[in-house]
Amino acid sequence: AVEIHGAHKWFGPHHVLAGVDLTVRPGQVAVVLGPSGSGKSTLLRSINHLEKLDHGYVSVNGELVGVRRHGERLKELSERAILRQRGGIGFVFQNFNLFPHLTAAENVAAAPVATRRATRSESRARAAELLARVGLGDKADAYPRQLSGGQQQRVAIARALALRPGVILFDEPTSALDPELVGEVLGVIEDLASTGTTLIVVTHEIGFARKVADLVVFLDDGVVVEQGTPAEVIDHPRHPRTREFLAKVL
Ligand code: ATP
Ligand code: MG
Repeated sequence: AVEIHGAHKWFGPHHVLAGVDLTVRPGQVAVVLGPSGSGKSTLLRSINHLEKLDHGYVSVNGELVGVRRHGERLKELSERAILRQRGGIGFVFQNFNLFPHLTAAENVAAAPVATRRATRSESRARAAELLARVGLGDKADAYPRQLSGGQQQRVAIARALALRPGVILFDEPTSALDPELVGEVLGVIEDLASTGTTLIVVTHEIGFARKVADLVVFLDDGVVVEQGTPAEVIDHPRHPRTREFLAKVL
């Protein structure tokens, strides 16, 4: 499970997360919706400690992220411990962020090799398996520049799976793609949803949310305004801000 308790984050005077509480249970798919600047990326990034919260805490599968309890207080973990935790939390970015000088297979194998979770040959075999799973079995030796945006994003998903994370975070995984490539990436995410991995997906793809999400969360001005099933939040929003947002994106 991913549990977020009383999360606050300021950037200077800007209160970007203003008390977020959220629980995503094991195997659930949560879709986070909200206007630009509402804090969606900051919330996602705080889950794997790419951003440090000013107040509150995050735990993933029962383990605090980035900190440990020290009496009444929370103490920062070492960089090494944070890196180890991040291995259990996959992250897929809007702009793919592949290593341009590595092939698809090398991108997927890079983290397991670097963290010595697997030997080079084990990692290569696993990379081939993961690329096949995202429909790219024939692209193992292609460099990112030789791939379409949709293919690059599928490599990025295979890379996120390489360390067998219990949780995968997606930050607008399809918003940099041409419309005709969106479906192939959402299809891969939908397949993952059926494998029992916990997924948190920031997206404006309402059709995807309706079909795949167990939990839909509407964030505005750094607070969870409304959360529930797709039928509740998308089809019967209670809050005027949710209605206003949906009217724009639907
Ligand atoms: P979008 O839909 O445009 O991606 P978002 O909901 O993901 O928006 P965030 O990226 O979380 O929003 O940003 C929330 C607010 O925090 C914005 O006002 C943004 O300008 C500000 N912000 C984000 N990162 C930083 C930073 N590193 N330094 C200062 N301000 C930041
Ligand atoms: Mg964002």
